[in-house]
Amino acid sequence: MEIRYDWQETEIKAIYSTPLLELIYQAASVHRQYHNAKQIQVCKLISIKTGGCPEDCSYCAQSSHYKTEVKPQALLDKETVVKIAQQAKKSGVSRVCMGAAWREVRDNSQFEQVLEMVREVTALGLEVCCTLGMLTKAQAQRLEEAGLYAYNHNLDTSQKYYNTIITTRTYEDRLRTIENVRQTSVTVCCGGILGLGESVEDRISMLHALASLCPHPESVPINILSKVKGTPLEDRPDVPIWDVVRAIATARIIMPASDVRLSAGRAKLSAAEQALCFLAGANSIFSSDNGHMLTVTTPCPDYDADQQMLNVLGLEMRPPFVRAETPNSSFPEKV
Ligand code: SAM
Ligand code: SF4
Repeated sequence: MEIRYDWQETEIKAIYSTPLLELIYQAASVHRQYHNAKQIQVCKLISIKTGGCPEDCSYCAQSSHYKTEVKPQALLDKETVVKIAQQAKKSGVSRVCMGAAWREVRDNSQFEQVLEMVREVTALGLEVCCTLGMLTKAQAQRLEEAGLYAYNHNLDTSQKYYNTIITTRTYEDRLRTIENVRQTSVTVCCGGILGLGESVEDRISMLHALASLCPHPESVPINILSKVKGTPLEDRPDVPIWDVVRAIATARIIMPASDVRLSAGRAKLSAAEQALCFLAGANSIFSSDNGHMLTVTTPCPDYDADQQMLNVLGLEMRPPFVRAETPNSSFPEKV
């Protein structure tokens, strides 16, 4: 199967609507053409600046528009971040993602501190990803010079549904930042959230937007809404696991070389449900040593529990800087 950038929404809908077990089988087959299906990328998220964000993303615990349990915290110092990264490396993590609750990056001393963090964590031999809000081209270049491996900027939902969820920025703003990152050698991490109240059409439209990016994002997080008390989405119904599996399998088929990350919301899934997601093509997770992802309100399984689950499933942690293979290349240890 070749990589395509001209998927039609009707084709994506047909994939998404395939009878479930057939869909999983097809996605698992594509997965094995491009990836070593035995390996899972394990990432650690560090919230380097928490809360007090001026944006109004309806799902987010860190928005200053809502009263949540998150206590704002100033930018962490570099030593703290490096220490957390070293600990994560010891636990087998290969990517560290540094998140800041900013609308956009400003050219100030805080950005200089983040650049220093990127340099030092990269020097540990880890893939470093940042998610800092909107970026200019010049700022993307500075992150590239500092050695940044990936930049995360999610589309979150469809263009049509976007302003129901966020009003303080537009879909076009999002796409512009992704374009600015694309002009550098930094890889792109871009995905979305299930459970915001979107329709199946919105999900298809978001997957279409992602698969129309050329090249595809190297990594595609599929988040399940983590319902945060105090936000407008606190009472949304749960997303059925079957919808999660469908979204993952569809992403795997239409963006075959990308890493598909089972991200926020994973803590609520059983090991058996996660195994289905891995079979459907998810090959990346966030793991943590403190039971939460970005903030106390977004739970995340811990390193030990994840190591145990991977052992049971016969999976292993992927080393840093491994890229997807071209189809038909043979892996030494295919499952
Ligand atoms: N401020 C930056 C931005 O918005 O790009 C970076 C941090 S933000 C927390 C990163 C991503 O986490 C969001 O784009 C969203 O997809 C995801 N996210 C945040 N809160 C979430 C929640 N409660 N449930 C699911 N995903 C969430
Ligand atoms: Fe701010 Fe990012 Fe949360 Fe939106 S998702 S409120 S931009 S931290």
